[in-house]
Amino acid sequence: MFVTRAQIALPDPASVVTALCAHMIEHEATVEAGPGAARITLEGAMATLTYGAAGLSAVVEAGELVALRAMRFAIASHVVEFASDGQQLRIRWEGDGAGPSLMPDFRFLTVTAVERLTPHMRRIHFSGEDLGRYDSLEALHVRLFLPPAGLPEPAWPMLGEDGLPVVQPAEKRPAIRKYTIRSIDAAAGTLAIDFVLHDDAGPGSAFANRAQPGNRIGMAGPGGRGLRTAGRYVFLADATGLPAVGRMLAALPADATGLAIVEVDGAAEEQALAAPAGLTLRWLHRSKGTPSRLAEAFEALEWPADGPDVYLWAAMEHASFLRIRAGARERLRRDLDRHLIVSYWRDGMAEEQHMAEKKAAAKAA
Ligand SMILES: Cc1cc2nc3c(=O)[nH]c(=O)nc-3n(C[C@H](O)[C@H](O)[C@H](O)COP(=O)(O)OP(=O)(O)OC[C@H]3O[C@@H](n4cnc5c(N)ncnc54)[C@H](O)[C@@H]3O)c2cc1C
Repeated sequence: MFVTRAQIALPDPASVVTALCAHMIEHEATVEAGPGAARITLEGAMATLTYGAAGLSAVVEAGELVALRAMRFAIASHVVEFASDGQQLRIRWEGDGAGPSLMPDFRFLTVTAVERLTPHMRRIHFSGEDLGRYDSLEALHVRLFLPPAGLPEPAWPMLGEDGLPVVQPAEKRPAIRKYTIRSIDAAAGTLAIDFVLHDDAGPGSAFANRAQPGNRIGMAGPGGRGLRTAGRYVFLADATGLPAVGRMLAALPADATGLAIVEVDGAAEEQALAAPAGLTLRWLHRSKGTPSRLAEAFEALEWPADGPDVYLWAAMEHASFLRIRAGARERLRRDLDRHLIVSYWRDGMAEEQHMAEKKAAAKAA
């Protein structure tokens, strides 16, 4: 058993622990709380928090170092977040796993092969260690840490002695982009990711263009919501959502039925996808400079009121996303948890700006 502990001076530890416990319950932790103490158990680690006039004492125990560090990070980051009175907290962990470490969900990936699937889609095969947590149809996407060209070993994301992320020099940080795991064999330590090669290439597309066997990148996650069980499926995607659709179609039961509509630049961008016989795959072609027709295709679909329960999964550029989400809310209002519609990129915006706008919109809603 690994153990680490910290003493944190806090003016109002009770309110911080209350907020922390409520938040951890949302993350499916088991929480037992009583006067002056709380115990939080999650993913192989347990945190015992006791508090009083002297502040907060935290003891974290786990069978594995990676679980210990993940819980230590969860406690430290949320204490800082919920103590939000602007004061600088001093946190110093002692015991096992002390000292700087990589983020708990961070893995290195090494390029083993690069495959040209179509003129604008590159499949990159990677090898990595300890990939079990990424092998899930519930959470399909990951954050990739892509070294800038010419800096193969950037400042990777680290946790410091306080258990919190270290602020690395801006010029040495890898770029972070979201991508979908197209296929994974955790036992063999391999996975593949399909990258769209697009104009105005940012770090993601540029990396895919130059990747060579032996190159190293980072990965963290996984995240998002994935496949649900349903009576009938409808998938809508552009090229960026195609890797997720391909993975989900291959994982559906043989008797699944439904429709997948995928929009790509032209016939040369179509791919052969494994799918159940009862699943129709329809390709739309969008020539450069013309608007997407995905929203139009969605609006033309019929949704019989007494049909089987349908699951709608959609991912594409922001403008189509807005229109499809509005239509889905109107037509499928009663089944809000039966659809997942996500904006995967935004025309004219790099990912950082797109994500910042998404967060601001979610906050304002
Ligand atoms: C959950 C999730 C999963 C994703 N999975 C995948 C995946 O598996 N494969 C994949 O290829 N993409 C995927 N994406 C989309 C990908 O993250 C974005 O396309 C991202 O912007 C690419 O980063 P970049 O560095 O190439 O370009 P950025 O630096 O982000 O953007 C630079 C410029 O390129 C434009 N641009 C970005 N993407 C495209 C595009 N596809 N076509 C045309 N112009 C574009 C931007 O509008 C901007 O003007 C996913 C996105 C999300 C949110």
